[in-house]
Amino acid sequence: MRCPYCRENHDKVIDSRGADDGRVIRRRRHCQACGKRFTTYEHVEENNRLWVIKKDGTRVPYDRQKLLGGLQKACYKRPVSAKAVLAIVEEVEDDIFRRHEREVEAVEIGRETADRLKQLDQVAYVRFASVYKQFRDLDDLLDEVRDVLGSSQPDAPDQGKLF
Ligand SMILES: [Zn+2]
Repeated sequence: MRCPYCRENHDKVIDSRGADDGRVIRRRRHCQACGKRFTTYEHVEENNRLWVIKKDGTRVPYDRQKLLGGLQKACYKRPVSAKAVLAIVEEVEDDIFRRHEREVEAVEIGRETADRLKQLDQVAYVRFASVYKQFRDLDDLLDEVRDVLGSSQPDAPDQGKLF
């Protein structure tokens, strides 16, 4: 890196640390020619980012915090540990980063996440799904709830015969 003081291209990195939640790396450099210190910042190039296509067609950079926040909201006061929530995020990321290089539809991230959440907690699943699917009306939501309850109670039809 060319020194801003003496223009020599002969420096040594003396410190590197992440900033802005890992999106930036800040490096302190020591110019071997003039002895001055300067700082450089390294960013992920925008083109290398995974973009998320929203329902209205707009694109935003993938943001782990958004997914994590949505899951945390869905799991509020539910018996799902913070560790389990983070594990879902990591699994979903592994999956979508492997299958998509440049862009992915938001609904796909939602579906991947909801599928995993469904195995953990049905209430959290319905909460999460109601946001990402943006049910058109209450009937759609109730259909989904019925599906969830139906799949978790395979013996339900026989219960009426007990009495
Ligand atoms: Zn210098």
